[in-house]
Amino acid sequence: MNVDHTLAAADSWRRLPAAQQPSWPDPDALRAVTAELETYPPLVFAGECDELRDQLAAVARGEAFVLQGGDCAETFDGVSADQVRDKLKTLLQMSAVLTYATAVPVVKIGRIAGQYSKPRSQPTETRGGVELPTYRGDSVNGLAFTAEARTPDPERLKRMYHSSSATLNLIRAFATGGYADLRQVHEWNRDFVAGSPIGERYERLARGIDDALSFLEACGADPSQFHSAGIYASHEALLLDYEAALTRTDLRTGSAYAVSGHLLWIGERTRQLDGAHVEYASKVRNPIAVKLGPTTTPDDALALIDRLDPDREPGRLSFIARMGKDRILDVLPDLVEKVTASGAQVAWISDPMHGNTFTAPSGHKTRHFDDVLAEVRGFFDVHHALGTHPGGIHIELTGDNVTECVGGGDEVLVDDLHRRYETACDPRLNRFQSLDLAFQVAELVRD
Ligand code: PEP
Ligand code: MN
Repeated sequence: MNVDHTLAAADSWRRLPAAQQPSWPDPDALRAVTAELETYPPLVFAGECDELRDQLAAVARGEAFVLQGGDCAETFDGVSADQVRDKLKTLLQMSAVLTYATAVPVVKIGRIAGQYSKPRSQPTETRGGVELPTYRGDSVNGLAFTAEARTPDPERLKRMYHSSSATLNLIRAFATGGYADLRQVHEWNRDFVAGSPIGERYERLARGIDDALSFLEACGADPSQFHSAGIYASHEALLLDYEAALTRTDLRTGSAYAVSGHLLWIGERTRQLDGAHVEYASKVRNPIAVKLGPTTTPDDALALIDRLDPDREPGRLSFIARMGKDRILDVLPDLVEKVTASGAQVAWISDPMHGNTFTAPSGHKTRHFDDVLAEVRGFFDVHHALGTHPGGIHIELTGDNVTECVGGGDEVLVDDLHRRYETACDPRLNRFQSLDLAFQVAELVRD
């Protein structure tokens, strides 16, 4: 099947219903903003997107592993050198452990530099008898519960662009400027193991990495990969007016690319086959991921493949399963089996966060570390039983010591949640919980 990938074709989504779009109060103001965004330089380059697609093809073939992680919702205030650095540090530390455990390259993808827009289950929120629009991410409105903050303001789309740009600039500098040096990253992991209440359990793994590094050093190996790290940017392609304004023709090929981020994903709430999001994504050449919740049928998955990967191009399409720990063993096997039988080569990634959310007695939305781990374990079990490749994990995390998810080796209790509950949307694993998870997933892989 031949898909028309020109810029003109990338506008076809406008004829279809688009779920989860804000009610902008002034359409003319929105048009003025998108016209300005259309003149801005690309945030990422088509060639970088192709490179990521090639790496995801290796994942689909079982030769690489994905680590995708970052905030549920980035905030404009969160664009500081410290916060971005600590998020990257956490991702790099997790990646070092996972590289050793999986013995394949780990493709590092941030939920970062563009993850500013949120789909919501309710259009409004009521507090103390006052009803206001829900917070839809910093790209749309403000989190504060006032009529002024909650009114969608298209000027925010420009701030989203500039915040993404500043973040990407930092990522590029950290990734290649010596900060991502593998020896350094491993030293941080050693500190984590030494300081963790259950660190002893991870000693053997950390020592294994020590030995591997020493062996390579003794051999005189010093590849450039030890000194820098490729980190890609991804976000949910939710606000189609923004995405369309940042869609450009690749001069090499004449094809349209989203230049707002390397990988775009379509969320569980916007993956309708006849909806605008799938239509938009079908027309750009970036690698695309789709979240699949517990109600997904094999026919849904096959139809998504036909729409988004008609040429069956490995690396083009990834499925991110977010079933919940209690559903994954029931729902995932049939999906994987039928997708595999269809001949499509997708990368399978586990999001163990979104199917495991509950409200604590204190009213905080939270997740239990053990439930997150249980879903990852289920994901691995399904793939091992079918002989397919568990291609990666997708995690909501931060480099800060927040108290948003409960459990973990340095245990966060339900009564601790109020201490540092800072997320603008869903609860994130903190730095320790993220590293804990990486070590535990490493143990799963090596079992
Ligand atoms: C998210 O990733 O923050 C999200 C809303 O996920 P999902 O579409 O899987 O619910
Ligand atoms: Mn989320």
